[in-house]
Parts: sequence; C-alpha cells; structure tokens
Amino acid sequence: MRKLTLFPSILLLGSLSLTTACSTGSTTAGAQDGASSSTPAPASTVDPTKIKGLTIVNDSSNDRSCPWATSYPSVPGAEAATAAMKKDVESYLANYLGTNAGGQATDCGGAVDASGVPELNISFAFLVASGDVLGVRLVTQDHTGTGDGLSTKTYWYDGAAHAYLPATGLVADGSRPAFLAAVKKELKQREGIDPTLLAELKAADIDDASFTSDGALKLSFDRDTVGVPAGGRYTVAFPRTTAAPWLSAFGKRAQHQTMNPGGTLDLGATSTPTPAAPTQTASGTDTTDCAKVKCIALTFDDGPAVTYTATLLTYLAQYKARATFFTVGQNVAAHPELVRAEAKAGHEVGNHSWNHPDLTRLTTAQVKQQLERTSAAIEAATGKAPTLFRPPYGAVNAQVKASTTLSPVLWDVDTEDWKYRDAAKVARTVIDKAARNDVVLMHDIHPTSVAAVPEILKTLTARGYHFVTVSRLRATL
Ligand code: ZN
Repeated sequence: MRKLTLFPSILLLGSLSLTTACSTGSTTAGAQDGASSSTPAPASTVDPTKIKGLTIVNDSSNDRSCPWATSYPSVPGAEAATAAMKKDVESYLANYLGTNAGGQATDCGGAVDASGVPELNISFAFLVASGDVLGVRLVTQDHTGTGDGLSTKTYWYDGAAHAYLPATGLVADGSRPAFLAAVKKELKQREGIDPTLLAELKAADIDDASFTSDGALKLSFDRDTVGVPAGGRYTVAFPRTTAAPWLSAFGKRAQHQTMNPGGTLDLGATSTPTPAAPTQTASGTDTTDCAKVKCIALTFDDGPAVTYTATLLTYLAQYKARATFFTVGQNVAAHPELVRAEAKAGHEVGNHSWNHPDLTRLTTAQVKQQLERTSAAIEAATGKAPTLFRPPYGAVNAQVKASTTLSPVLWDVDTEDWKYRDAAKVARTVIDKAARNDVVLMHDIHPTSVAAVPEILKTLTARGYHFVTVSRLRATL
C-alpha cells in the first residue's frame, strides 16, 4: 500500500483514459508522453450493458469522519479476475480502516492528508470486454498519506485459457528481460526518476498495463514506484510495432480486441444470469398533497444494484409507495434498465455522483464532471434529466452548490443502515424516528435495507403516512 499528495482529479477517472487525467493533474515533465513521439490514443469506451450478467459490487460508508466507497465489476465467467479484485479491494479497505490483528476496525487509518479528513475511493473502468478478453482497471484514491494517494492496477482475464492474468500477462515470459530493459531505458531519461528505484524495478512490479486504440502498449507507474517523491505518475507507451515482439499470445489477443472492439464478450461462463428488470406500469401523476396528509420521502442511495433494486421496486409497488433513488453514475451506466424501471414506476431518480467521491475535495470542473456525466447517464436511461442531487457523505459547500443547477438533498433521518446491516433494526429505526415530512436515508445496495422496506411500509401506512418523492414533498410543503 503506497501512501501517496492530494490528487483529486483521479476521482474523475471512471472511464477517462489515464493519459487524459494525468495531463490535467500532473506537473511532472515527461509523465504524460510515452516512448512514442505522439500522445497515445485512449482505449475505446466499453459499453457495460453489453456484458451479460454483469454486476457491480458496491460498498460504502456514510460516515463523514471515515468516508469510503469501493466498487468493482463481477463478470460471469471471469470469477478468478473478480476474486483478484475483491481481494485487493478488501485488503485496501482493511488497511484504510486500520484493522487490528483481531480483525476489528480500530480507527480510520491514522494519518490523513492536508485537508485533515481521510477518504478512500476505489472505482473501476473497463479496458476491454470483447471476444474472450476482459480487461479492467481499478483506480484507488486514498487520502490518508502524504502523497497523492493514487494507485491504479489492471486485471486481465483470458477466456480461452480460463485464467486471470495480471498486467505482466500481456508480455510473454521469454520476452520479459527485453521488455523490462526497454522500460528502464525509456524511464531513465525522464525527469524525477530515482535511479535506485529504477534499478530495483522488476517486471512483476508493473501492475498497470493496457493497450491504446492504436495498439500501443501503455504502462502506468504510481507515484513513488520509480520516481523521487516530488515526481508524479509516469506513463510509458510503446508503439504497436515496438511492443509486438514482446507480447504473449494473450497479449496479442488483448491488443486485437482493444483495437477492434465490439465483439460479444464470451468468457465461456456456464451461466450468465440476467435478472429480469421489474415491469411495473406507469403509476400516473402523484397528486398527494403533503400540506393535507402526512408524508414521508424514503430515499435510497448508491444503486442501482442488481437483484436488490428490483426487489425493492416490487415492495414499493405493493404499497403504491413512491421513493427517490440517488443513483451512482457508474452503476447507472451498467444497469440503465433498473433506473428506467424506477422512473417508469413513478419514483424519482436523483444524482449521487459518478463514483462517490467527497465533492468538497474536488475542483469545480471535477464536480461538474461527476454530476454532469451522471445526469447524462440518467437521462439516457429514463429520458429525463434529474433535478436533484445528493452529495456523497452529505458533503456539500458553496463551491459544490455553485457548480451545478441540481438542487442538493440531505436527510432528516439517517438510518445508518450501511453500518449495522440488520433488516429488523433498519425497520425499527425508520418506524421509530421518521416523522411527518421527513426525508429518510437508506441504501439499496444492501439486501438488509431492502428487506426492511415491507415492514416500514406496512407499519407507517397503517399510521396514515403517504410515501412520496422528494420533489413531490418539496412541491406541496
Ligand atoms: Zn452514498
């Protein structure tokens, strides 16, 4: 785990190429350009809706003193790659939480960066999902060290060999010495390189490798791995013809699929469950007048999540209850059908950023990108742009508010459902605490929270409450 200076632009990396992000955030000479004279083209964008059976594994806290959010994809057939990502994410989170020997979280990582607040954010981007090749990059931003806290790692899956491969799997075993020598030769000329670190660099230390759309082999080095502390990230890109003799058989296929994407991803999965999206019909205009009747606005953050969100929609429909979903853009992009079902059933879809960073740490441009990209994904899914946003962790300031026309929504009742994950306790908390016109915070990424909903709806309906969207509540108060 490298503890690395504030580098908030990386939180925008969801699907941006690393090259783009570095060029906006790094001041290190030579960090952007590779061995080729021109800036390498970014890899093509992968459409996650084309990946059959895809689920996004999300987790997060809503604790402002120890904020964290993690996500990685689970693709049927690529279980070994999913397992490798899961292991790394869990390890990073345990380290962030300062887990003690007994497995108990002791604090939130200790040292924090200059802002005085820690934060861990792990998000993903698909590099390739075509033919028998899957490539994913995890981007970790850890604000608990003294450096930029950014690390990236690529995970590859070879559907033909049914094998997970790390970054170096793109290079043939026999070619590694020549490959490593070329990497060192390229890095040696860069400003800020630490000769000792460079001499110690082994092929196995290279954990971020991918191809550009023109076939260049691109490597990315986290801060402090090859450079002096003041140095930033380094990217090396070898043109297609230079890299060709080094590539493994899988590397050649990964390169081909990156340059010619669009094939259906087939990793030989024995089953690819495709949960049916709920099909509630439109429930018409809500005419509830909260000035006249008792209203509550249930809100569900961080989704949509496969199976849980669909189950929740079924429960809400049973009681003709409406709710508001503050969705995360990277999940909307993966599962637009769930967001469409939310909107179609009369619920409100709000914006909860692209990958759940604390927006108050970001620049105005970065906040705009987090929110605008998510609003665009919601509009593409539902035909309607959102008007509300909920800032992750409830962290909002004047700069964030000035960055968007969306209206911020916080909450009156925090169920803390993410912390205890106990359906009975979630239900009890809402039933005991919620009062007229309250906005209640829950998360539909947790099955325990979804399981609490029938009891909440049953009990509060019996007490005369009406369940409305946040916009409906605001409009009639
Ligand atoms: Zn959240």
